[in-house]
Amino acid sequence: MNVLIVGSGGREHAIAASVAKSPRADKIYCAPGNAGIAEYAQCVPIGAMEFDKLRDFAKENAIDLCIVGMDDPLVGGLVDVLEEAGIRTFGPKKNAAILEGSKAFSKDLMKKYNIPTAAYENFTDPKAAVAYLETAKFPIVLKADGLALGKGVLICKDLEEAKAGVKEIMLDKKFGTAGNEMVIEEFMTGREVSVLSFVDGKTIKTMTSAQDHKRAGDGDTGLNTGGMGTFSPSPFYTKEVEEFCEKYVYQATVDAMAAEGRPFKGVIFFGLMLTEDGPKVLEYNARFGDPEAQVVLPRMKNDILEVMEACIDGTLDQVDLQFEDNAAVCVVLASEGYPVSYEKGFPITGLEEFKKHEGYYCFHAGTKFDGDQIVTNGGRVLGVTAKGKDLKEARANAYAATEWVNFKNKYMRHDIGKAIDEA
Ligand code: AMP
Repeated sequence: MNVLIVGSGGREHAIAASVAKSPRADKIYCAPGNAGIAEYAQCVPIGAMEFDKLRDFAKENAIDLCIVGMDDPLVGGLVDVLEEAGIRTFGPKKNAAILEGSKAFSKDLMKKYNIPTAAYENFTDPKAAVAYLETAKFPIVLKADGLALGKGVLICKDLEEAKAGVKEIMLDKKFGTAGNEMVIEEFMTGREVSVLSFVDGKTIKTMTSAQDHKRAGDGDTGLNTGGMGTFSPSPFYTKEVEEFCEKYVYQATVDAMAAEGRPFKGVIFFGLMLTEDGPKVLEYNARFGDPEAQVVLPRMKNDILEVMEACIDGTLDQVDLQFEDNAAVCVVLASEGYPVSYEKGFPITGLEEFKKHEGYYCFHAGTKFDGDQIVTNGGRVLGVTAKGKDLKEARANAYAATEWVNFKNKYMRHDIGKAIDEA
């Protein structure tokens, strides 16, 4: 099979590494890719939002399967464009990717189908939003409806902050058109767990669980980021939690989308909060999480191409999804100053060390070639992932491996997986 992966981050690197393991993969391309992905795939300089160019490239290069990793092209309808041209594509169509593309849509869906989530109201009028806030309980959560690079969520401790939040989202349009509508939601407390799943329109198979670390600084301080590290599995995702979600969340979501005439094929990411009243859905994503994919995919035993084809063909019920009985931890190496401002273009050394060690991976997020030299090219630069027989071993291995690579202004959190000690 000739495979085209669309995207350029650590997630797409993890997908490319999994595809490369498949005996069914022939030529692998990635658009636009990065310096690490280039080890497995031929990178082609086409952006993820250049739909016409991607379609033409796929046709000219006899692509048998296209995998769309990123949210923007999914929500924008890339899968529809490729499928209309006869190219088999893994990922939800536009009318299903709305599950991630509109928080107002996903909240209404959960309400209509009794899927547990925080109480909320949707607003298109900032004055109505402020009037609602004037009688609300605090803290409270404001969410821009659309895609906002994971940054469109504001937790407000009082009315003053919330009013400023409404202004930021709906009037100043800090997140662009994503702020045309807004969700105001009850603040919940509890541990967060991410569960990724494969879906074929009717059947859902969940993958092993993971936990992200969103804040930039140790002890969950500082600004929200795209994610500073992950571990898998989560010890807090107990059998009991799993059974609850199987009964009230996973299949219910897939059935709800089908009932709405929006059958979902691809990956649904469930962001869950384990509250005192039981697990509740914080958010849905319509693709693999990043960096969650970096700890989940290396532990998957199945041939990823077979699973993805089953999702497209509606035969996922015949797939026995299996994960290794071990653990993995990913520590993100970022550029000092991320997520605000940082310098790029510094040479990265030590990458070859990962080839010498089984069970260690260095997924590239923001890197590029400068001649023969790989240099930093983003806020999140690398995802250093290691497996271990259990979470503690995986964590020790991952932190040891962070010492192998170096670049100027290298920054990481030192407490990824600290929660393991409280399990
Ligand atoms: P989301 O993009 O909706 O997952 O929100 C990003 C982050 O904001 C989540 O991972 C939570 O840490 C936090 N968050 C979102 N919604 C709530 C809520 N209702 N209560 C408390 N924290 C929340």
